[in-house]
Amino acid sequence: MADQRIDLAGARILVTNDDGILAPGLKVLERIAKTFSKDVWVVAPAAEQSAASHSLTLRRPLRVQKLGPRRFTVDGTPTDCVLVAQHKLLTGRRADIVLSGVNHGANLGEDISYSGTVAAAKEAAYLGVPAVAFSQCRDSDGAAPWDTAAHYGIEVLRQLSGFSWRRRILVNVNFPALKPDEVAGIAVCPQGERDAATSVNEYRDPVGRPYLWIGDFSSDRTVQPDSDLGAVAGGKVALTPLHLDSTHDPSLGQLRGIFA
Ligand code: MN
Repeated sequence: MADQRIDLAGARILVTNDDGILAPGLKVLERIAKTFSKDVWVVAPAAEQSAASHSLTLRRPLRVQKLGPRRFTVDGTPTDCVLVAQHKLLTGRRADIVLSGVNHGANLGEDISYSGTVAAAKEAAYLGVPAVAFSQCRDSDGAAPWDTAAHYGIEVLRQLSGFSWRRRILVNVNFPALKPDEVAGIAVCPQGERDAATSVNEYRDPVGRPYLWIGDFSSDRTVQPDSDLGAVAGGKVALTPLHLDSTHDPSLGQLRGIFA
């Protein structure tokens, strides 16, 4: 795949997620996909796989369930779903683009490392297929305003028709927790960093024994207003291109000097 443009009209679109087949965000993304193409396939995890990251299931069998035409579950991870879809389930030809989400909750900054939603898009990029991960930020009550994802998801995909996809690139999109008419536009921005770290919380079970529960990041605050976190905090849709190559180029030169 070299500098490929995607015309979504007539494209074969694979929709997946990490929240599982019953998640409301999956239905939102399916509707978004169907506004562009009739050839929409859904292959999603049978159960929730949030924070599964890019894990593969290698030590047990995978079972596929057909729920209807072009609609399947896999009892594995989002990565498993993309692999199984592309190798086994999509008959005739593979998907031209993979859409993942819409996740219930943000995938900004550090979340990108842990996210199963983003990992499905990464797997597609490894397979040479353009991919977009979508996440809807939650409001202070934990609710996701899906209308915003529905409206801006279509808008983002429409504008991405002008994008030349290069090898091993995926796009990560986060919608702010606002009503559609409150959104302040779409910002193209780099992945950011939170000021706070993930928390580990200690509780007591009903008989008084302590247990630990890994919490979310305690805050989305960032010192980087131009990052994905800053864009969403400013009421914008954050759109970030990601690269599968994790090499840090500036350090390559320095380390080559040290290890010469
Ligand atoms: Mn999730």
